[in-house]
Amino acid sequence: MVKSLFSRVRQYKWKAVVTPIFMVGEVAMEVIIPTLMALIIDNGVANGDMDYIWSMSIRLVAAAFLALSFGVLSAITGAYASSGFATNLRHDLYQKIQDFSFSDIDRFSSSSLITRLTTDVQNVQMTFQMSIRMLFRSPVMFIFAIIMVARNGGVLATVFAVAIPIIIMAVYVVLKKTHQSFTKAFKGYDGFNMVVQENLNGIRTVKAYVREDEQIDKFTKAADEIKKNFVKGQRLMAITSPMMMFVSYACMIAISYFGAKLINVGSMETGQLMSIYTYTGQILSSLIMSAMIIVMFSIAWPSMQRITEVLNAVPSMDRNENGDKTVEDGSIEFKDVSFGYKKGVDVLKDINLEIKSGETVGILGTTGSGKTTLISLIARLYDVDKGQVLVGGKDVRSYDLYSLRQAVSVVLQKNTLFSGTIADNLRWGKSDATLDEMRQAAENSSALSFIEEKPEGFDSWVEQGGANFSGGQKQRLCIARALLKNPRILILDDSTSAVDTATDKKIRDALSQRVKGMTKIIISQRVSSVEDADKIIIMSNGKIEDIGTSDELLKRNESYQVLYKTQQEGALHG
Ligand code: ADP
Repeated sequence: MVKSLFSRVRQYKWKAVVTPIFMVGEVAMEVIIPTLMALIIDNGVANGDMDYIWSMSIRLVAAAFLALSFGVLSAITGAYASSGFATNLRHDLYQKIQDFSFSDIDRFSSSSLITRLTTDVQNVQMTFQMSIRMLFRSPVMFIFAIIMVARNGGVLATVFAVAIPIIIMAVYVVLKKTHQSFTKAFKGYDGFNMVVQENLNGIRTVKAYVREDEQIDKFTKAADEIKKNFVKGQRLMAITSPMMMFVSYACMIAISYFGAKLINVGSMETGQLMSIYTYTGQILSSLIMSAMIIVMFSIAWPSMQRITEVLNAVPSMDRNENGDKTVEDGSIEFKDVSFGYKKGVDVLKDINLEIKSGETVGILGTTGSGKTTLISLIARLYDVDKGQVLVGGKDVRSYDLYSLRQAVSVVLQKNTLFSGTIADNLRWGKSDATLDEMRQAAENSSALSFIEEKPEGFDSWVEQGGANFSGGQKQRLCIARALLKNPRILILDDSTSAVDTATDKKIRDALSQRVKGMTKIIISQRVSSVEDADKIIIMSNGKIEDIGTSDELLKRNESYQVLYKTQQEGALHG
């Protein structure tokens, strides 16, 4: 996992490689400095040899300068490498998500994908930056300093033989506990992002129902959950600092005690003892640093797993790029189709249905009866579990997915507009659409009048999610966008629910008179929207209850009769 993840450093590889090399250079200089100091004190100061002091001082300054330069260089290359690495990770994740099918997104949930793209990547980036700088620094410094202590202090090195195992044991205990808290904290971000995303997407509903307080409660709970686990982890980690201090002062006392004895018997110089103090600091700080790196890794581990999970996910839908590129006509056939979002729970059961090319078909049914699910299978937004869906006489899976979706235009209930101009949005349907083509599509979807009323016409700005347009206007723009594709099959999933009945009729008339030859499927709650269709499908509980023309259904289908009657009365009294 680590290898596959870190291989994404790609073009920043050499920067990632030179960072630890610069770091080793810095460490080497830092380790030489105490020895130079010891030499100045023991040979220069003790003998009053000014020349010696000068020559050593110059080396000392040079070593300090080199240490600084190496340090700065390593910080710069490290920052480049880690932010480049994070950019690549985000890019790869994003690209992978674009390949995901609806069911893949359902499986991961969009809030979790957002956490993986943001918090998790940031977390891994920090660890990466720390590791390339510190992973080498700590052991190198530790080894150099131990060697220097052994050279300069001889038996004094035995003090560390006692101190080091104590530190390792203590760090191990702390680590085990902190790991649990941090794993929980990062999982908490999924819940947190879900609350935020849900709130922002539904901010109008929240306000309309005056649910701000509940939303704030939900948010606070999710944020508190993260805080609780972070604080727990941090508190445990905070113990390490006084603990290290304690061990380090104990080492100092032991070294001072034994060092004084050695100086008394003449086997050690004062400068030597002073250098050993510095080396003690270096040894202990490198141990602390190693502990920190391990902690960082243990914190980042769950993030690394979550990122790898997405990167390694095989999209459940094969795009079949070598498949058929042409959809011959707009005919649709369902053969014994069953489908469920979850294994074992069928939402559609044994559907058999035939729609001829160019027909207009209405679909009616209660909410949850499976209407949207049925049409989702035509554009292959989901794949069937059993049976076959044929478009233009061929299984939808035999087409190149792009070509199929060009031929089947779906205006979903929750279709969105994106920030950009109206023209930008419409050109999603056809990237090189001319103004005339756009006008034509807008006219057929009854959008032209309100577009032209705007001073900037097709160049008017659309806010994120189309927030500056009314529900009905958004729907009409979405229909225009779908029409621009000039598809074989146009599916409107309750796409005119927010427009008034007169405009709804205008759109239907325009579609039937001007957009000929295109198969049209209209899902609606209104009988009037489907009344003139060549046939009407009545859905109930994931099954087709009946199919027929309005007249036929009025004669024989009870649910249609009830629906027709109540809506007619509603229209008369309304
Ligand atoms: P309709 O369009 O008739 O209102 P749908 O086709 O949207 O009905 O839904 C049919 C059933 O499938 C419902 O019970 C709904 O809860 C379920 N369903 C719809 N979409 C999903 C999804 N993405 N994941 C799980 N269940 C879903």
